[in-house]
Amino acid sequence: MSTILTSEAQEQLNHIRHSRDVVHAYSPAIQKLFNLVIDYVDDAEKAGQGGKKVIWAGVPWAMPLIYSTGAIPVAFSELGRISGQEAITISEDHYQMPAETCSMVKATAGEWYLRKQAGSSITRIFGSSSACEPYNLAWEVMKKEGFDVYTSDVVYRAPGVEGGRYEELVQYFVDEIREFNEWLTGTREIDKDSLHLEITRKNYLMRRIREIMDLRLNHPFYVKSLGIMYLLNGLTHYFGKPEEYTEVLDSLVEELSLLEANEADRRRAIPLIWTGGSGQEFGIYDAIDNAGGALLGFVSSPYAKDYNEDIDPVESLARFQLESQMAGASIYRRHVIEQQIDKIGARGLILYGYLGCSFGSVTREMYREYFHNKGIPSINLEGTFQVGPPSGQILTRIRAFIEMLS
Ligand code: SF4
Repeated sequence: MSTILTSEAQEQLNHIRHSRDVVHAYSPAIQKLFNLVIDYVDDAEKAGQGGKKVIWAGVPWAMPLIYSTGAIPVAFSELGRISGQEAITISEDHYQMPAETCSMVKATAGEWYLRKQAGSSITRIFGSSSACEPYNLAWEVMKKEGFDVYTSDVVYRAPGVEGGRYEELVQYFVDEIREFNEWLTGTREIDKDSLHLEITRKNYLMRRIREIMDLRLNHPFYVKSLGIMYLLNGLTHYFGKPEEYTEVLDSLVEELSLLEANEADRRRAIPLIWTGGSGQEFGIYDAIDNAGGALLGFVSSPYAKDYNEDIDPVESLARFQLESQMAGASIYRRHVIEQQIDKIGARGLILYGYLGCSFGSVTREMYREYFHNKGIPSINLEGTFQVGPPSGQILTRIRAFIEMLS
């Protein structure tokens, strides 16, 4: 099936095309990136129709493993880009989800329903349990709807878990990884050679991202906010096309390396760090660009350090997750934010979350206070997971925030 877009989602698609053809007209690498974005879900559907194993996957740690089995993961985040009010209405009316339920839960569940009705070839869902009660309910709803749903336990390493306790946690997680492999392939035996190759690939791509982020310090406006957001999102799932995504990063490094140093841009840019998920209200990114902000730091996708290629690859997968900012406790992300503040000379933080997410709002408030006490201002933004225009109030707040920093 080809995705039939609502008018809001079509507008969003036009936004991406405009960014590709006009805003980034000078960059073949970013143009190629946006082509990957645009084709991701439709091409995955086609691959599914052609007999390839394709799953909806909302669990970042699993992506190298999924690719190592030959399957294609379709990240939940891309469901947001193609879903709109219709999906929300399905969740509220058909599934009777309360209006105040998080927009991510409503948008994904509603979109899965709509796609199933339209004959989607993707009928398996891999999500995580325990972290989020609304999503746990959504999994049950999706099972009743006929989807094959598998959920892994939440990855959480409490602060202070070291030594023997940490090793037990690693073994617990390794066991979970094998269970997931069984759901995906029918066996707990993992193809370690293939997984090793995927880990090597991921390390290469993270090094490329580090190079790009370093080069952007001298060319902060070359890749605009929407572009860098998708570049970083792609580091998790490669848009279903690892080789093409690799080409994008290679070409972008080359483009940035050939540029003359631009001192005026460097002085004009207001370095910012984005924390939290990616907003689908693309107008937010335009507002940042237009106000002179440059998103030079991110904490959602880990790219600061490599997987260990010298140990068992399954264990390497577990240790990478448990030793990165994705290990659950907000203190891990806070460390990464602090490192990035120093590295890019950040003047402010954008703390972004989805409407209706109580977990996120508590974390953002903790960050706000912690960094405020360190003299780093932040702005707390809440948006929708599904597409839609940002409210005028959000845009005004962003403009005012960046003006205050300049
Ligand atoms: S944004 Fe929050 S409430 Fe929504 S799915 Fe994620 S954790 Fe759950």
